[in-house]
Amino acid sequence: MMIEIDGSMGEGGGAVLRTALALGAVSGRPVHIFNIRARRDKPGLQAQHLRGVEALAKIAGAEVRGGALNSTELTFIPGEIQGGRYRVDIGTAGSTTLVLQIIMPAAAFASGPIDIEIRGGTDNPMAPPIDYMKNVTVPILRLMGYRCEVECLRRGHYPHGGGIVRAKIEPVEWLRPVSLVSQGQVLRVAGVAHAVRLPSRVATRIAHAASLELIKSVRAPVDIRCESYQVGQDPHLGPGAGLTLWAETDSGAIIGTSSLGAPGKPSEKVGREAALDLIEQLRTGMACDRYLSDQLIPYLALAEGNSEITCASLTSHTLTNIDLVRKVLDVDFRVFGELGRPGKITVTGIGFKKMDKS
Ligand code: ATP
Repeated sequence: MMIEIDGSMGEGGGAVLRTALALGAVSGRPVHIFNIRARRDKPGLQAQHLRGVEALAKIAGAEVRGGALNSTELTFIPGEIQGGRYRVDIGTAGSTTLVLQIIMPAAAFASGPIDIEIRGGTDNPMAPPIDYMKNVTVPILRLMGYRCEVECLRRGHYPHGGGIVRAKIEPVEWLRPVSLVSQGQVLRVAGVAHAVRLPSRVATRIAHAASLELIKSVRAPVDIRCESYQVGQDPHLGPGAGLTLWAETDSGAIIGTSSLGAPGKPSEKVGREAALDLIEQLRTGMACDRYLSDQLIPYLALAEGNSEITCASLTSHTLTNIDLVRKVLDVDFRVFGELGRPGKITVTGIGFKKMDKS
């Protein structure tokens, strides 16, 4: 039976499209989505969304009707999820990690391993930076049995793009539930500060400013790696700079955040911004940061049995993803708390297995 999704629901952005099609691909059910990104200034499919839909369609052997640049409606009719090698060129600085976000749930249930290379932006505003994906999202998904390696071969920033990300995903039979409730004690704060086609002192200054803030508030070692290059030896296109930070705790939680450089924005501000945000999120005592929660929702729904997470903030992205998943799968999420405040989510996942697909 066709799943009908109004893309303007809740947050009304690209995530509604990604989650709806990802779950359609996993469960083998066709999806008709209209009002795509209706709540955004430039509604409809932008290059990054379209390339993501096309990539998922290839992997899931799907037929797509109506997917073109700026279109606000499409129908996605999935087939078999196939392992293999895939290449996606977004063609703009659009986010490579959001392409990963749309394909990753289906990729876990493919017929064989998937090796995918995606070209575009690696460090974009309003999307997970590649270092966040690699050091927060993927390790937490591994707790659920998800098998994935992500590498950044070349960074790409707005407006030039041209970054290259490679992901290798091994299929699984099913996903395990996860309990990420207690934040625990912070064991260490790690990070990556990068500066591409900018003086190497930019990365050092970002890292230094972040460390100064962190050591005032966090009683654990702080270890921020600086990534910069000699002029002429920089494989990245840039220019661009940024910082991703994550705190690893003794309960297995990883709480992350990031900040990006911009013309005229002092390096110290980039460093302090991420550090202060991490400190604020740690103070909530919750086990998942405000970005991870929405990203985990589809996996919690597919996993076998009871999962529970606490979140630094019940974001509208998270609540929208929950509403959406409820429409597609028969799954009972419970949310404790209010929009924009720390909260808790519990769910009994459906225990999806490869052979469940009709
Ligand atoms: P739109 O342009 O329609 O807003 P989009 O496709 O860019 O759509 P959103 O719907 O806004 O995307 O979803 C953005 C995703 O990126 C969410 O999963 C969110 O958690 C994640 N995200 C945004 N900023 C960060 C960040 N700093 N760190 C980690 N993840 C992030």
